[in-house]
Amino acid sequence: MSDAVIEIRNLTKSFGGTALFRRESTFRATDDVTLSVTRGKTLGVVGESGSGKSTLLRMVLRLIKPTSGTIEVDGQDIWSLKGRDLKAFRRKVQPIFQNPASSFNPRQSIGQILTAPLEVHGIGDRESRRAKAEALLERVGLPRDAIDRHPHQLSGGQKQRVAIARAVILQPEVVLADEPTSALDVSVQAQVLELFDATRREMGLTAIFVSHNLAVIRQISDQIAVMRHGKVVEYGEAEQVFGDPHNHYTKTLIAAVPDHRNLRRVS
Ligand code: ADP
Ligand code: MG
Repeated sequence: MSDAVIEIRNLTKSFGGTALFRRESTFRATDDVTLSVTRGKTLGVVGESGSGKSTLLRMVLRLIKPTSGTIEVDGQDIWSLKGRDLKAFRRKVQPIFQNPASSFNPRQSIGQILTAPLEVHGIGDRESRRAKAEALLERVGLPRDAIDRHPHQLSGGQKQRVAIARAVILQPEVVLADEPTSALDVSVQAQVLELFDATRREMGLTAIFVSHNLAVIRQISDQIAVMRHGKVVEYGEAEQVFGDPHNHYTKTLIAAVPDHRNLRRVS
């Protein structure tokens, strides 16, 4: 694939194998995963609970170390990064997690949550950081005065809007989203998905979006990888995966979606 921002090669993560049970085989949460993500596109990763989606994403975020295999972002092996390059990576690649309640510090105001990344990276002064946060709040559909509220004063959907704002405040290249709408009411899910997609497009970001929900994945993905038991069992352009799935498991997944004939992109 041309102009790949993220290149994942033969990525395996094993868990288990404690001293006591050394003879028990270790278990591969992800197993020989090879994927790439094209600049400005979204790769949707779909699979049932326990298929290894979060493990994969956490390795790309550099939160857990692979057992074997490599991950490159912009041609750099992310697990070899040090010092200034590592700091640049932390700015370039931003996460959005499923549960906004646990990804925010409840004692911080929304303003503090949003300006913290700017502070860490030494961007602007107090006033300009606050102005940036206010402008971004407006852009994600929240009132400017939300800046002085605390997470518990916002709804789940509003918190995910803040999570999107926080993810893009450093003008990253890549956003990695792990089930960002799965904890939300169905009526709110669509709005947050649309905001994610619109923001990503406007800013030209490259994304991996993980979900167990095929309908959600269909809405926002350019390419799709289907995972099962840690392996990628199907990988291709969204149109192909939905129109002409090669893998039997993918066919079963598609058939299990209510109104699967109407699965389509929103935009
Ligand atoms: P998904 O996000 O697709 O639901 P996960 O990546 O969270 O799947 O988990 C994949 C498998 O790896 C699951 O069986 C899970 O129990 C296991 N797993 C995940 N993290 C750990 C860990 N830190 N220690 C042991 N097993 C883990
Ligand atoms: Mg998960």
